[in-house]
Amino acid sequence: MPELPEVETLRRALLPLVENRTCLEMRFFRTDLRFPIPVDEIRQGLIGQNVASVTRVGKYLLLNASGGAMLLHLGMSGRVTERPSMEPVEKHTHAVFRFSPATCLHFIDPRRFGAIGWAPRGAGHKLLSHLGPDPLSPEATARHFKERARNCRAPVKAFLMDSKRLSGVGNIYACEALFAAAIAPTRHAGKLSLADWERLLEALRDTLNNSIAAGGTTLKDFFNPSGDAGYYAIDLAVYGRANQPCRRCQAPISRVVHSGRSTFYCRHCQKR
Ligand SMILES: [Zn+2]
Repeated sequence: MPELPEVETLRRALLPLVENRTCLEMRFFRTDLRFPIPVDEIRQGLIGQNVASVTRVGKYLLLNASGGAMLLHLGMSGRVTERPSMEPVEKHTHAVFRFSPATCLHFIDPRRFGAIGWAPRGAGHKLLSHLGPDPLSPEATARHFKERARNCRAPVKAFLMDSKRLSGVGNIYACEALFAAAIAPTRHAGKLSLADWERLLEALRDTLNNSIAAGGTTLKDFFNPSGDAGYYAIDLAVYGRANQPCRRCQAPISRVVHSGRSTFYCRHCQKR
């Protein structure tokens, strides 16, 4: 499943292809993704329009034009590839956008949990309005989270993964950041000190940035054409390592399951 680093890498890979370019043409082959694609709005807002920038909030990409922004979300299995023609070549190609005579972006998503939406300028979008700050944005400060978590009895791991509080952080990065910051995943979010939040955010940013740095810089590096497992294999300290020795203290890594999700951590190192 694409995580935040893959989406950030996709953003960077798209910049030279779409920034300051005009969308010339688009085709949709089916519109029933996670949400119905608002085809008319997207056509009206994007065709013949210049894409001024490509930005990201959590796992959402925004192609910003003068009248609004097209939203892309990769869901569980989504990909974007660059091809010289509008003709779909791969199975599960649901939409194609042409940005120059020989630059066409193909949106492919076998499981169709991805989304393509439109946010009119000024009005925002219901998918984005409830999102907490992106962990790599300047808004994601220790002070902000200390304040937001006041009296919060939810475990800090659940807090990190709640997109209303922090956008785009999945299970893997939550586990890895808590290990790096030596904070127990079960600790109540409201109990973290300002220094804890500082350490945790730094650990989270480092983990995400290392992963982004390990990714490719072009669409070719990013997603292999066969479509599977194009996602990054980062060096994981705890995630998926149940019963293997902790890299800091050699104690076996623990795995606990809460509401269907596994949490991996070191009982010995993550006591704070
Ligand atoms: Zn340990």
